[in-house]
Amino acid sequence: MIYLKTEEEIELLRKANLIVAGTLAEMAKMVKPGVTTRQMDTIAEQFIRDHGAIPVFKGFPNPYGGPFPASICTSVNDVIVHGVPDDRPLEEGDIVSVDCGAYIDGFNGDSCYTFCVGEVKPEIQNLLRATKEALYAGIQQVCVGHRLGDIGYAVQSRAESEGYGVVREFVGHGVGRKMHEDPMVPNYGKKGNGKVLKNGLCIAIEPMITQGSPSLYLADDKWSAKTQDGSWAAHFEHSVALHNGKVDILSSFEAIEEIENKSK
Ligand code: MG
Ligand code: MG
Repeated sequence: MIYLKTEEEIELLRKANLIVAGTLAEMAKMVKPGVTTRQMDTIAEQFIRDHGAIPVFKGFPNPYGGPFPASICTSVNDVIVHGVPDDRPLEEGDIVSVDCGAYIDGFNGDSCYTFCVGEVKPEIQNLLRATKEALYAGIQQVCVGHRLGDIGYAVQSRAESEGYGVVREFVGHGVGRKMHEDPMVPNYGKKGNGKVLKNGLCIAIEPMITQGSPSLYLADDKWSAKTQDGSWAAHFEHSVALHNGKVDILSSFEAIEEIENKSK
């Protein structure tokens, strides 16, 4: 069942998502060689709590093992999603996707950004650019009268046109009072297929794109999803609302991109 949101509810969702955006900007400030993902998790949790929100990922149940032990997912290199923060220092040339969720005033924010650690190989920079472009290609399809399949089609065709792999096992989702609501928002699909998009629809669109094959396996920690072929993966996610017939991006990469541009 899809819960369409009122204007007030959309503003509450925006509030939660801007706390997530602020958290990710803190990550942008600190990500560099030598930093551990556990250190990033500590700062992220502090930032979320300092803003009166709850890090919803912490304690998230897992059908295959124990609950998620941290406030952010940190997926390094060949980890596609759900990487668990640890004590391995990040190295020059690594990439790390930081997925973050925050809950405040009854609503959830959910957004993800893939960061470069120092100087990253051009082909990996290209993967990151293409994944972000695939996200925005999907977002462009969010308008009244379009269908869910249009979003997936746009994401998939954008990524595959450059020869990249599109992960099928994990998908975007409705977002609201629950972190994961209906509908599922796959990163693949057929034009004109699926449910019609209506005003009040709030969804997280989150392409997970691989340099090689998108086949994956679950690592021993029972959380990290890794590429089977060891190729690297990127993940960008925005939470968006459809209202007044137009798409409204509730999360934000603005502060992150400002920090990235300064360091170039
Ligand atoms: Mg997320
Ligand atoms: Mg999500």
